[in-house]
Amino acid sequence: MTHEARRGLTMRPLIYAANWKMNHGPAAAASFAKRFLDLTAPAPERSLWFFPPAVSLAVVSQAMRSRPDVLVGAQNVHWEAKGAFTGEVSIPMVHEAGAGVVLVGHSERRHLFGETDEQVARKAAAVLRAGLKPLVCLGETLAERESGRTEHVILRQLEPLLEKVPAEEWARLVIAYEPVWAIGTGKNATPDDAAQVHELIRFTVGRRGVPGRVSILYGGSVNAGNVIALLARPELDGVLVGGASLDPDGWAELVGLGAGS
Ligand code: PEP
Repeated sequence: MTHEARRGLTMRPLIYAANWKMNHGPAAAASFAKRFLDLTAPAPERSLWFFPPAVSLAVVSQAMRSRPDVLVGAQNVHWEAKGAFTGEVSIPMVHEAGAGVVLVGHSERRHLFGETDEQVARKAAAVLRAGLKPLVCLGETLAERESGRTEHVILRQLEPLLEKVPAEEWARLVIAYEPVWAIGTGKNATPDDAAQVHELIRFTVGRRGVPGRVSILYGGSVNAGNVIALLARPELDGVLVGGASLDPDGWAELVGLGAGS
């Protein structure tokens, strides 16, 4: 199926999401935004999401305010609105700084900072209750894939989300399938591998009463050389990109690829 046919069916543009991780403080983020805006124009077939570090959120959302195709988001939040949680940021705070979306359960949060499936689901539900969109990351490690446990891990990660997020709220939730072995390694999942897990996720949530077609991005070593092949698969609604999103020229080039293929 061509992208045009798929978009005709889903009425949904492709999402290109940039996860800057712990890169680009306010000054670097401002100069990225300026250069990127000079290089790109809004395009109806795509939506551009940026996840700067929390301290750069306000700068990026201010710089991008004239662009209806851009959504700025936080990389992480606490589920409580305020209180004695030193070092955390709340959903109302990131919303005030311009965030419309929140990355939840990125593999670095899960594996380096010990976030559990339960906490990830709690955050996603809180983000939805506050009226923002969660972009919830799921994915297996290399050991899990090699021991044939990919499906088991994906179902285990989905279960608390299905329990905590009411079926009708899933229309505002976006999933990112990010195999841990593909993140920052230069080794992306094949389009077939990614598509297979996307279908598993859709089948699982559909069987549990979630109506419609849940949006799912793929993430893990996406770059200008593989994005067209990945986005040629109708199971993918976009990409979540770390390393290749850090340079404004490279990112502007990447977001120009795939949408018309
Ligand atoms: C990510 O940070 O979510 C990611 C997919 O990183 P990279 O593109 O560098 O693999």
